[in-house]
Amino acid sequence: MALVPVVVVGCGVIGLTTALSLQRSGRYSVTVVAREAPGAANGESQEWASPYAGANWRPYAPLGDAQQRAAEEATYFRLRDIAASQPAAGVRVATMRDFGASPHDRVPSFLGYVHNLRRIPSSEWPEHAQFGYAYDSLIVDVPRYLLWLRQEFCSRGGIVRHGALEHICNAPRAAGVQVAAVINCTGLGSRALGINDATMFPTRGQTLLVRAPSVEYTTTAPGARSDRATYVIPRGDGTVIIGGVFEQGCADASEDPLTTEEILRNCIALCPQLLDRGFESLRHPSQVPACDVEQLRCRAIRVNVGFRPSRRDGPRLEVEHIGGLTVLHNYGHSSFGYQTSWGYAGAAVRLLDSALGAAAKL
Ligand SMILES: Cc1cc2nc3c(=O)[nH]c(=O)nc-3n(C[C@H](O)[C@H](O)[C@H](O)COP(=O)(O)OP(=O)(O)OC[C@H]3O[C@@H](n4cnc5c(N)ncnc54)[C@H](O)[C@@H]3O)c2cc1C
Repeated sequence: MALVPVVVVGCGVIGLTTALSLQRSGRYSVTVVAREAPGAANGESQEWASPYAGANWRPYAPLGDAQQRAAEEATYFRLRDIAASQPAAGVRVATMRDFGASPHDRVPSFLGYVHNLRRIPSSEWPEHAQFGYAYDSLIVDVPRYLLWLRQEFCSRGGIVRHGALEHICNAPRAAGVQVAAVINCTGLGSRALGINDATMFPTRGQTLLVRAPSVEYTTTAPGARSDRATYVIPRGDGTVIIGGVFEQGCADASEDPLTTEEILRNCIALCPQLLDRGFESLRHPSQVPACDVEQLRCRAIRVNVGFRPSRRDGPRLEVEHIGGLTVLHNYGHSSFGYQTSWGYAGAAVRLLDSALGAAAKL
């Protein structure tokens, strides 16, 4: 059976997961072209989002968003399978302590399928919380997982080429092959490339990577403002990502020292295990002494600033014809790219199958 050649533009978690899903369908031969890629010399550039994620699985989808809800659910089960069968991938099951501020808009979306669900009594809720659940979540060790995705793709004959495109129609030339379609997974890159999506914007995040081997759980709690959340994500190797902020439209790539201070204080209050203490020493952030903040600061390995590829109306998954090329868009996954990646990638394969029709089914 002849494979249908396609090119995926973008080598973040969305591009790689989409490329792998197309390849595994057995119908496509896939080349990836990207400006940044895991393992490349420019891998630490702030021009792409994927290396800067936490990352844990924590459902965001509002009740009315059936596509995102389905993507979260599909990815939950796929990441569980990967955790169980692929130790090199850097994915593991861990208990999530999920505190939220709006019980009515998203909670029932995950109650039905997450494993080991239990309610956390209100006596244990942090400030601003209106619900608290514990359940099995997934934690992704981002640097390892991105490399694993790339290796999986390449070990099955996939090719990754370096290339900074000026227009999406240049993708086939950069890939060096005649293609039946271009799959656009360029995140914030879609503000240009002839796509010119003016509804895309960066949502700035700032996190710290700290050494804190006592932390067992991943915990998320609402912040004092809508552009704040307090989260703690142990990577399983003794290091922990703590955050953070969701600053829409902000493109400042430097560390904000006041935000660093706020993150250290809030995270100690939410998770005393960061300083090797039990949960009985939970405190309000204002009661965390300066010496504790300094102690955790001393354990910091680095401060990260990254930009989530946000889109006013949510992710774009659709086919467009540009300059005679069939272009399938899969971008705009904002704060939830890892936890929805397999769901959106599966949907992208189905959409491409139907867009290319019989040609892809031969
Ligand atoms: C601080 C922070 C914490 C996060 N935490 C989580 C979390 O816990 N869970 C979760 O699910 N998500 C999380 N996210 C969100 C997640 O990181 C993103 O949704 C995801 O990385 C988006 O992936 P992407 O592949 O679409 O985009 P990107 O990773 O930005 O990749 C875009 C790709 O397109 C390429 N590209 C762009 N323009 C061009 C061009 N002109 N020519 C060629 N190539 C181009 C880039 O080089 C890159 O390869 C977090 C993000 C941040 C910043």
